[in-house]
Parts: sequence; structure tokens; C-alpha cells
Amino acid sequence: MIDLRSDTVTKPTEAMRRAMANAVVGDDVFGEDPTVTALEQKTAALLDKEAAVYMPSGSMTNQVAVRTHTEPGDEIILEANAHVYYFEAGAPAALSGVMCRLIQGKRGIYTADDLRSVLHPTNVHFPVTKLVCIENTHNLGGGSIWPIGQMAEVVRVAREAGLKIHLDGARLWNASVATGVPEREYAGLVDSVSVCFSKGLGAPVGSVLAGTEAFIQRARRFRKQFGGGMRQAGIIAAAALYALENNRGRLADDHANARLFAEGIADLPGIEIDPATVQTNMVFFRVTSMPAQELSDKMKQAGILALPRGDRIRAVFHLEITREDTQAAVKAMRVTLQKF
Ligand SMILES: *Cc1c(COP(=O)(O)O)cnc(C)c1O
Repeated sequence: MIDLRSDTVTKPTEAMRRAMANAVVGDDVFGEDPTVTALEQKTAALLDKEAAVYMPSGSMTNQVAVRTHTEPGDEIILEANAHVYYFEAGAPAALSGVMCRLIQGKRGIYTADDLRSVLHPTNVHFPVTKLVCIENTHNLGGGSIWPIGQMAEVVRVAREAGLKIHLDGARLWNASVATGVPEREYAGLVDSVSVCFSKGLGAPVGSVLAGTEAFIQRARRFRKQFGGGMRQAGIIAAAALYALENNRGRLADDHANARLFAEGIADLPGIEIDPATVQTNMVFFRVTSMPAQELSDKMKQAGILALPRGDRIRAVFHLEITREDTQAAVKAMRVTLQKF
């Protein structure tokens, strides 16, 4: 099976497992796990932030960030298809008690004017707005990248309004590899940033939240409250460290494979895709000849797994997918679609 459902499906390699087996560990809630501390410090330095804290998932880093920036009844502003809003099981309401104000972006990306249009005056009628969220790359937007200039303009409007900014950078690594803009330049614009090690970087578990020393200190309390205080977590942090050191540069291969796949299927009957919109490791294509679920079932029979969503199918490229796999996937798609 060529598994293109997500870049989360990768399994740790032998070398990564060796790093895990040899990790020096301690009790992380006591602040005594040297491998976790090394991961936090290395990630903070890479993002040019004062401090960082390791957690089991990207949803947790995002939701702890939301909670740390807000109090119940506050308002946060997000793009309508943001992971923080749409894919985290209602957590902003359940765990932080905040209101979500949505902006409809284009491929997940919105403008400074879009942000201005949802700001309201300070007045007893309104919730207190505290936070603006940006997702880069944007998952449902198709792995789309925020142009750094546009991001800076949005941040400027947010700052003028006295708001904090959180960057959901689960795939920030992909944005940096694709653009050459270092992670720290994106991170430098915002107050807090979360990054993920179990997507394209191929670690089995974990994300890091970074920000100021005071912010991270407060975030550690909410991590504990949300049940994310871990003990000998160096076992998994070692895999994240290994991923950080070894698997970032190769994301360019995933991007090339995604583009190759998009170009290889673009002229097929019954689907629509503009390969030029493929900026990173994701390919979304519209299915026009049958329900997307039906095509994904047929793809499965041809040895390709991909996720249908509405009238689209998402294919994600990652470190277990070679160029040969990509070419095989294109061939299988051509055989499958030309039958109909
Ligand atoms: C995957 C993802 C996350 C985190 O997801 P978890 O499964 O909780 O680790 C956060 N943001 C975006 C944009 C993602 O794609």
C-alpha cells in the first residue's frame, strides 16, 4: 500500500529507535529529564524564543497556548478552517471557554483587511478579544504557505489592536524548506508558536510550544492541568531531537513528490487540480465524475490510500514515500481513472 492519508503515518526508523533506546531520562514534571530539556532548548533557539515546553500532541500545544493567552469569556480570532478551531474536538470552548470569531480565508490565508473587518470596539456588549491565530502551512488550505509579508501585515493590525498572536506551525518546517525563509523569521513575528515532530519530521510523538519565559512558565501549569505532564518523556523526546537534526532538509523531497503527483494526474478525466497550487507536501484534488469516497475506494483497490473530504481527496507525501512510489501512484491513478 502507498499510504498518502497523512504525514502522521510514518514509523520510527532503526536509527531513530536507537536514539530512543539510548536516551538519558529523568522525571520531566520535576524538570529532570535532560533529553526533554535539550529538545525544548534546541527548539526554542531554532525559533528564536526564550523558552519552550514539550507536549504529547499538536492539539495540546495549540490548546494550552489558547488557554495561556486567554481567560474564559474572551474571544479569539481564527481562520474558518483552522486546525485549532475545526480539528481539535471543540477544545477552545471545552477547555478555555473562549468564543471563536472566524475569518474566511483563501486557501486558509487571510489579509490584514480581513482581520480589521472582524475587530469590534471595546464596549460592554462585546467579548474581550485577546488572540489571533495563524496556521502556516495551512492544512485544509492545501499545505498553503503564508507569504511572510502578508503575515507581517496581519500581525501589525493585531498588535495595533493590542492582541497576541499564536502561530500553529505544525508544518512550519515545510514552509521554511519551501521558501527558504527560516522558521525563526515566521516565529519572530508572533508571541507563541507550536511546532510538530510527528508530521513530516517522522517522530512517533510530540510537539513543542515556544514563547517568552513567563508565557511558557504559565503554559506549564496548563499542560499539567490538561493532563500533559509527562515523566520519563526523554524516550520520545529523543526521537523528536533525532527528527529535528536529521529530517528537516529532506522535506524538499516530499514537496517534489507532491508536485510530481499533481502534475501526473492533472490531465486525467473526472478530477480537477491546478498543480501550481501545490506548495508543500499536500495535494488536494476535486473529484467531478463520482463521489470522492467512491474514487478513494477504487484507489484503495489499486494500492493507494488517500483521505476523501467533501468532494475532494487529500494525498500527503512523507518520508516513507519514495519517488518510485510517487511514480507508481500516478500510474495507478491513470489506470483507475481512465477506466471511467
Ligand atoms: C496535525 C496538526 C496539528 C496537531 O495535531 P495532533 O494530531 O494533535 O498532533 C495542529 N495543527 C495543524 C495545522 C495540524 O495539521
